[in-house]
Amino acid sequence: MPLLPRRYERLRSVLNRRMGDLTVLLEQVDKPHNLSAILRTCDAVGVLESHVVSLPGRPRIFNDTALGSQKWVPLHAHATTEGAIAALKARGFRLFGTHLSQEAIDYRDCDFTGPTAFLLGAEKWGLSEAAAAAVDQAIVIPMTGMVQSLNVSVATAILLFEALRQRHRAGLIPVQGEGIPGGPEAYARILFRWAYPQVADWCERQGRPYPALTAEGEIAEDLPRTLKLRY
Ligand code: SAM
Repeated sequence: MPLLPRRYERLRSVLNRRMGDLTVLLEQVDKPHNLSAILRTCDAVGVLESHVVSLPGRPRIFNDTALGSQKWVPLHAHATTEGAIAALKARGFRLFGTHLSQEAIDYRDCDFTGPTAFLLGAEKWGLSEAAAAAVDQAIVIPMTGMVQSLNVSVATAILLFEALRQRHRAGLIPVQGEGIPGGPEAYARILFRWAYPQVADWCERQGRPYPALTAEGEIAEDLPRTLKLRY
């Protein structure tokens, strides 16, 4: 079944604005409603991909709150916090740890226009000591009520939308896919996967490249009839 041109345009216009240099690292944030709400916010803001370190053996489960956003914002799993942090630092990210400590500074005083990763901690105990020690900057969303902390998905939304606000003001929101690391080739791969996930899976199983798409988003190649093209 060909992809409707309008749907294809929608996929392209969302991908054009995705930002590979804005992300979140979730440390043992395992509750399905929180994970789901966070991914939904990532999608809304234009985060390209996200990261998680889970407790061993704990599956990552999404619920209806996600509204399918897990399809549009991959959540990369890391075995350890140290490994995840090292990988993000190697990619040039500045790590902002949400740590409710004396050293933490008001998030509104920070610059999130460069490569930015927000570290969010577990619902019960917050960031681990290892994470808190490894971040570049501890930040806090000031609280004036009786309760000491926000729900983790709410905190994530506040920080991501502040980053988006700063980037808008600085004219740094991508408009033509320039926020996708890896250039046009990576852009084309993501677009293909978004448009035809079953075909993308099949190509990967076969170890073959994704087929080219026409300007209207149709697959420009004959594929086995048994392959489901539905998206
Ligand atoms: N008792 C935990 C602590 O001391 O960190 C509270 C954890 S809080 C419910 C879960 C996560 O939400 C935190 O690790 C942090 O990532 C984020 N968070 C909650 N309130 C925050 C705030 N006011 N400023 C920054 N991050 C916050």
